[in-house]
Amino acid sequence: MSTATSESIQAFTAAAFSTPDKFTEFCANGGKPLGGIIGGKSVSGSMNATFQSTDPGSQEVLATVCEMGEAEVAAAVDVAQKAFASWKDTPLEDRIALVNKLVQLCDRDRDVLLACEIRDGGKVSELAEGDFTQIRECAEYFSSVAQKIAMGDGAAMKVGDGVKGYTYREPWGVVAGIIPWNYPIVLTSWFIFPALLSGNTIIIKPAEDTPLSALYIANLAAEAGFPPGVINVVPGRGEITGQCIAEHPGVRYISFTGSPGIGQHILRICDRHGTRMKREMGGNGSAIVLDDADPELVARTVGRYVNQHFGQTCCTIHRVYVDKKIADPFIDAQKAFMEDLTIGYQADEGTQLGAVVNPTQQRRILQAQSETVSRGGEVLLSGGVAEVSGRDGFYIKPALYRTEPGVDCNPKEVFHTFATVCPVDSAEQALQLANSSPYGLGASVWTPDLDRGVALAKQFRDGTCQVNCHNSVAYGLPYGGQGISGGPGGGVNCEDTFLDYTQVKAVYVADYPG
Ligand code: NAD
Ligand code: MN
Repeated sequence: MSTATSESIQAFTAAAFSTPDKFTEFCANGGKPLGGIIGGKSVSGSMNATFQSTDPGSQEVLATVCEMGEAEVAAAVDVAQKAFASWKDTPLEDRIALVNKLVQLCDRDRDVLLACEIRDGGKVSELAEGDFTQIRECAEYFSSVAQKIAMGDGAAMKVGDGVKGYTYREPWGVVAGIIPWNYPIVLTSWFIFPALLSGNTIIIKPAEDTPLSALYIANLAAEAGFPPGVINVVPGRGEITGQCIAEHPGVRYISFTGSPGIGQHILRICDRHGTRMKREMGGNGSAIVLDDADPELVARTVGRYVNQHFGQTCCTIHRVYVDKKIADPFIDAQKAFMEDLTIGYQADEGTQLGAVVNPTQQRRILQAQSETVSRGGEVLLSGGVAEVSGRDGFYIKPALYRTEPGVDCNPKEVFHTFATVCPVDSAEQALQLANSSPYGLGASVWTPDLDRGVALAKQFRDGTCQVNCHNSVAYGLPYGGQGISGGPGGGVNCEDTFLDYTQVKAVYVADYPG
C-alpha cells in the first residue's frame, strides 16, 4: 500500500549545479575544435567542417566539434575492422576487466559526465544523476549476460548418416550506434556495453546536439586501455555523418535510437546492402486512470511522467484516458501540477521545466500546440513561449488539453510537457483509444486493484505495459517498442539484446566421401 501523499509527489527537480573545471578544459581543448576519435587518434576531418554544441538553457557555446564525413566514416570502419581481428579473440574476462576499468573512470569523472548531461543536454540534476547510474548498472548486467551466453560452437547433433551439425555464434564485426540527444549517457551505455562485451568493435555516432559525453567516454576508454580502433566516435549531422554510416556496407549491424521517420529511412538503406539493424524509436505514451483511482494522487504522478526531461523522453505520457466518474477532480489536479512547474535554467536550483534542445524542436512543439487546438482539443494550459529572465534559451510553457473520444487531436509524438486528457465511459473504451495509436512504446494503467490493472495492461499494444508506474526500465526485462516505435531487434537491456549483437551460422560436417 502506498504511503505517498499527493504533496510528496513532485516533478523531477534541479539542484544547483556548478560546472567542473575539467569539463570546461575538455571543451576548450587547448583552443582547437574537438576531433572525432578514429583508431585512437583525434581526427579533424577532411570536410574542414565544424559545429558548435551549446547549452540549450543559455545558448552558451560549450564546444566546437569537427564534423566527420564519408572519408572519416570509411576510416573508422577500416580501423574497426582491423581491431576486430584481435578484439573478437580477446578472452571475455579481459574484455570485462576493461569495461570495469572504464566504469571506474566514469565514476572518477562523474562531475564531468553530469556536466555533459546537464549543460550539453539541458537536463535537471535529479534526472542526470539517475542517468549516470545506468553506466555501472548496464556494464554489470551485460558482463553477467556475457558470462552466461555461449559464443562459438553449440552442441552438435546428428543430422544424417555420418553428418553432424551445430550452431556457431559470433559477433557481427563492426557495429555502429546512432544515438539521439535526449539521453546521451544512458543510450551510449545501452549500446556500447552489449556491443563490446559480445566481441564487436564499434562506431558511435552521437547526436549533433549532444556530442560531448560520447567523446569524453571514448577518451576514458583509451585511458582504461581499450585497444585503438575498438571504440570510435564520429560526431556530425545525421544527414551527413549518419547517412554515411547507413550507406557503408562494412558496417555489419546498426543500433539506432531516434525518431521513427529516420529509423525507417535508415532501415531501407541498410536493406540494400545487407546491413542488419535494431531500432528503438519514439512513442506517444498513454495512461489509463480507472474509476477507483485517487484522482489527485494519480494526477500528480502522471504529471511527473508527462514532464520527465520536459517531455523529451521517448515513452513520456502524452495521452491520458480517465474514467468520467473522476475526470473533473483529476483534470483539476493535473492542471494545477503542470501549472505549478518551475520554469527556469536547468542548472539552477528548483528548476523543473527547462529549455528544449534546439530551435527546430521549439518550432515543432509550438506548431503541434496550435494543431492540437485546430483539431479540436480544448485548451486547459495553452503552452506558448516562456521567458526566463537572464537566459536566452528555447523555453516553452506546459500544454494541457481536454479532448473526447473521436476527437483525434494528439496523433504524433510531441516532445514536450504536453498532454491530452480524455474522459471515457469505461476501461474498454480507454484501451481501444490508447491502442489506436501507431506508436507502441509504453503505456500504464492506474488503479488500486492490481489484478484488474494487470489484466488491462497486458492488452496494450506496447512494448512496456505498466500498472501504477511509468517509464520503467530494469535490466533483464526488454525495453522495446511495438508498432512504429521499434523493431527489428529484441529491445534493449535483456538477454535478447546481447544476442542481437551476435549472428548465428549453421555448421554441417560430413565424413569425407568414399
Ligand atoms: P532523430 O531520429 O532525429 O536522430 C537520431 C539520430 O539519428 C541522431 O544521431 C541523428 O543525427 C541521426 N540521423 C538523423 N538523420 C539521419 C540519417 N539520414 N542517417 C543516419 N542517421 C541520421 O531523433 P532525435 O530527435 O535526435 O531524438 C528523439 C527521438 O528519439 C524521439 O522520437 C524519441 O522518442 C526517440 N527515442 C527513443 C528511445 C527508445 O529507447 N525507444 C530513446 C530515446 C529517444
Ligand atoms: Mn548541446
